[in-house]
Amino acid sequence: MMKKKLLLFTAVFLLVTTAFSLISCNNAAPAKYDFFAMDTHMSIRLYGQSANLAAGGIEGQPEFLDSVLSVTDEESDVYRLNHAKGETLTVDNHVAPLIKLSQELCEDLDGYLDFTLYPVSQAWGFTTGDYRIPEQAEIDELLQKVDYRRIEADTETFEVTVPDGMMLDFGAVAKGYAADYATEILKNTGTVSGIVDYGGTIIPWGMKNGKDLWTIGIQDPEDPSSYFGILSVTEKVISTSGGYERYFIGEDGKRYIHIIDPKTGYPVDNGILSVTVVCESGIAADALSTALFVMGTEKAAEFYQNDTKYHFDFLILDEEKHLYLTEGIADSFTLSNGYDYSVIRIEK
Ligand code: AMP
Ligand code: MG
Repeated sequence: MMKKKLLLFTAVFLLVTTAFSLISCNNAAPAKYDFFAMDTHMSIRLYGQSANLAAGGIEGQPEFLDSVLSVTDEESDVYRLNHAKGETLTVDNHVAPLIKLSQELCEDLDGYLDFTLYPVSQAWGFTTGDYRIPEQAEIDELLQKVDYRRIEADTETFEVTVPDGMMLDFGAVAKGYAADYATEILKNTGTVSGIVDYGGTIIPWGMKNGKDLWTIGIQDPEDPSSYFGILSVTEKVISTSGGYERYFIGEDGKRYIHIIDPKTGYPVDNGILSVTVVCESGIAADALSTALFVMGTEKAAEFYQNDTKYHFDFLILDEEKHLYLTEGIADSFTLSNGYDYSVIRIEK
């Protein structure tokens, strides 16, 4: 009798502890990593028993990519290329593939994206914070040094040539590239679910609490500590470009933002406050959010309707409080309480 009772007790005990560990596995606190790299706050949340192991696999990666791609760090490959006066250099094995990927994106995005805009950004002071409004003649001359097609990169020898006077800046795509890189490793190390947030490029995977979609807040450009809406998604990349992230007010009282039109050399001034892109790839989402910002709403909508390659969706907020939303994410988006934006749906 006593033995039976003991067996029953053991069975119940095991059942309860197993159930508890299943629940706690799903709801367990995530492994959290918060750090600063690429000039922005980054965070990673990982769920599942292999979270710590997975995190070990990417430890130091964003900082490393930063040390290779930084435009200001004199030791970085990009800095060395920008000051090599046309000499060919052998660089880290991330650089040539990143150049090739970026060239393809710039081409597909009709030159609204150009990773050789740096001499122009520099003239406006966006690289140092010594803001100024350059003369038209200066901009015209600097634009001669902007053309992503003239960069040579060999993905086998890792040799790169930047023509004298030209300069690279991966600011528009580096966070997306780094987020892709991290997510691939983290997923392959067996994390159950997680979320990588590299300063505006966010990649969630798996399910929150084992059953729910992730809710990604989209920053209010007028009050970046609040969200004007949320996207409920998983296994997608969400990337936002905002004029509010870096800008200055000129002596003429106008606002000049850090996103520049490669065709004019001027900061974009088309009424857009922010662009959020949802797609499958981090580097594409990052590139697209910057480029659609430059295109303006009308061309962005056309680009969306003609796209057969990137399969992306977007959300564009403008100064008139119009919120343009493409059909693929219409059902995933919820406007926050208190925001009276007029939502305009764009069909494919
Ligand atoms: P993002 O925050 O991803 O939109 O990237 C903006 C950053 O990309 C800027 O701070 C510049 O470093 C760079 N940038 C600005 N305009 C362009 C452009 N049209 N094409 C490529 N890079 C750009
Ligand atoms: Mg970008």
